[in-house]
Amino acid sequence: MTDTMEKGSISINTENIFPIIKKFLYSDHEIFLRELVSNAVDATQKLKKLSSMGEFQGELGELRIEVSFDKKEKTITVSDRGIGMTAEEIKKYINQIAFSGATEFIEKFKDKADAKDIIGKFGLGFYSAFMVADRVEIVSRSYQSPSAARWDCDGSTSYTLDAAQKELRGTDVILHINKDSEEFLDEFRIKGILEKYCRFLPVEIKFGTKEDREEDGVDKDNKPKYKTVTSDRIINNPSPLWMKAPADLTDEDYLSFYKELYPFAEAPLFWIHLNVDYPFTLTGVLYFPKVKNDFEMNRNKIQLYSRQVFITDEVKDVVPDFLMLLHGVLDSPDIPLNVSRSYLQSDSNVKKISQHITKKVADKLQEMYKKDRPDFEKKWDDISIFVKYGMISDEKFYDRAKDFALLRNTQSKYYNFEEYQALTKDLQTDKEKNLVYLYTSDPAKQHSFIETANQKAYDVLVLDGVLDSHFVNTLEQKLEKTQFRRVDSDTIDKLIVKDEKIDSVLSQADQDALKGIFESAIGNPSMTVSIDSHAPDHLPVTITMSEWARRMKDMARTGGGGGMYSFMGSMPDQYTVSINSNHVMSQKILKANEADKPALAKQAYDLALLSQGMLTGSDLTNFIKRSVDLAAQ
Ligand code: ADP
Repeated sequence: MTDTMEKGSISINTENIFPIIKKFLYSDHEIFLRELVSNAVDATQKLKKLSSMGEFQGELGELRIEVSFDKKEKTITVSDRGIGMTAEEIKKYINQIAFSGATEFIEKFKDKADAKDIIGKFGLGFYSAFMVADRVEIVSRSYQSPSAARWDCDGSTSYTLDAAQKELRGTDVILHINKDSEEFLDEFRIKGILEKYCRFLPVEIKFGTKEDREEDGVDKDNKPKYKTVTSDRIINNPSPLWMKAPADLTDEDYLSFYKELYPFAEAPLFWIHLNVDYPFTLTGVLYFPKVKNDFEMNRNKIQLYSRQVFITDEVKDVVPDFLMLLHGVLDSPDIPLNVSRSYLQSDSNVKKISQHITKKVADKLQEMYKKDRPDFEKKWDDISIFVKYGMISDEKFYDRAKDFALLRNTQSKYYNFEEYQALTKDLQTDKEKNLVYLYTSDPAKQHSFIETANQKAYDVLVLDGVLDSHFVNTLEQKLEKTQFRRVDSDTIDKLIVKDEKIDSVLSQADQDALKGIFESAIGNPSMTVSIDSHAPDHLPVTITMSEWARRMKDMARTGGGGGMYSFMGSMPDQYTVSINSNHVMSQKILKANEADKPALAKQAYDLALLSQGMLTGSDLTNFIKRSVDLAAQ
C-alpha cells in the first residue's frame, strides 16, 4: 500500500494556518463537533438529493450519522453514509483550503483582531477539528466508487493520502484527541455538545451510552481497530416543528414543541410562525411566554439556528431588544455561522430580519385585536409588557401598536387610546386645555386617593407595571396635549378646571399658625407642610409627592434614560403634607390647649401616613401606643 501512498503539502499560502485555527478562530473549542456533524449532514442531504433526482440509483440504506468515541485510543469518530469523497475530491475539498478562500482569509486576518468575524465565509469548518486533535484521519468512500481513500494529517501542512478498506459508502472522520482536549473524551460532554448544537439537525444522529468495544477491521498498519458500540439512541429530532407548514400543525403541536424547548416553563400565551423567502430566508416560531416580573430571567431564550444547526442563544442584534423576552426558535441561513457581535450589528440581513420580526409581531397583535377584542383584553395584562416595551423603544412599533394598545382603569375596563380620550375629555382637562390622565401605581396603597378621584367622577388608570413610568413618559411625548398625574400627586386638585376653587375658612394668621404647629409636630425637613383649602369632607391631611420627582425616582430605579436619572436614586424622598384648612380637625387643633396641639397634629399626620402605607417601624408602634392611651383616657 505504501508504494501507492501519496504525500503532499496542503496548498495554502502560509505555513501557519493551523496555529491560527487553534488559537484564535473559535474561543469555543466544542464547536468542532458541530462543524463535523454539519458536514456529515450536508453529505447525507446531498446523497438524498441525488437519489431523488435519479442521479444515484443504489440503496440509500440507513442514513444515520454516528458519533462514537474511544477513551483508550483517545479518538472521536464521526461517521456518515453520505456521498463520500474520492481521493481526488479529498485533495480538492480538504487539501486546498485556498479553494474556499484561505489566502483571502489570511490577508484579512492580519488586519483584524477578531478573526471570528470572517471565518464563516471561508469554509474552514473541517479544520476546526485541529483545535482538539493533533491528528485527523478521513476514511471515505464515494457513492461513485468501489474503493475508499484515507487521508491522514498531523496538523502540520503535510498529509498522506492512500487507498483504504471501507465496506460502506460514506465518510468517517477520526480525531486523535490532543492532550489539552481530553475533556472531550467523555460521554456526557459529547452528549451535551450534540444536544446543544445538533438537537434539530435533519439527519438522525446516533450517540450511545454503552462503552463496549468491538473489533472493527484493521488500521493501516494492520493492527486491529476497535470502535465503541453505542446503543440505539437518536439524540436529535430531525424534523422540528418550525420546518413544517403551519397549515399542518395544531395548537397541541406548538404547545408540545414549546415543552420540548423549555420543559419547565408555563404554557405560552400564543405564538407566531415565521416563514420568509424574500429578501432573506427566515423560518421559526416565536412564543409569547407568561413573563414574570424578573426581566433578566426571561431574556436569551430564543435560539438561533442556521439550517437547523444551533448557533447561539444570544440573539441580541438579530431580535429587537423588546422582543428578547419572547421564546422560541429562529432559523436563517442568511445569518453567518460563526458570528460575533460587531459582525452581526453591521450585517444588513440581520437588520432586515430584526425589522421583519417587529412587523410580524405587530401584525399578529393587530390581527388578534381585530378578530376577538374580548379575548385580546383577557390576554392584555400578560402581553402588555411586550407591547409597552416595544412602544417605548421602537418608533415604528409604536406607530403600529397605538391602534391596539389598551389602557385599563381601576374598574378593570379596557380602552384603546381613542376611546380613552373620548371618555375623559369633558371632565379631565386643565386650564391650558391639556387632557389630564390620572393613574395609580398601587391601587391598594393609593386607595383613598382613587376614591376621592372617583367621587369627582375622574377616571383612574392602573399603571402599576415595571415599565409603566417609562411608558407614561412615552405617551406624554406621543399623545398631543396629554399629561399623566399619579392619583396621589400634589397637582391633581390644582389641575382640573371643573373643581371649583374653594375659599379657606381660616384667616391667613390662623393658616400660618396651623402650618407652624404641624411643622414642629412632624419635625422632618423632607416633609413640606402646605395649608390648602379643600372641601370640608376632603381628607384632613394628605401626603403627596411631586409627579416630577417621583417619576425621576422611578426611572432611576428601573434604569431608564440611559442611567441619566441615577443621581435621583440616592436623594431622599421629598413629600408635601397638605393640610385641609376647611376640615373641622384643623379648627379643632387651633382651638386646643397649647400643650395638646402638637399631639393632635402628630396624630392627624400619622393617620395620613397610615392610610398611605407609609407608617412603619417604631413610628407605627408609637402611634398604636398613643392611640391606645387616647382611647383609655
Ligand atoms: P464547508 O463545509 O464550509 O464547505 P469544510 O472545510 O467543512 O467547509 O469542508 C470542505 C469540503 O469538504 C465540503 O464542502 C465538502 O465538499 C467536503 N466534506 C467535508 N466533510 C465531508 C463529509 N463528511 N462527506 C463528504 N464531503 C465532505
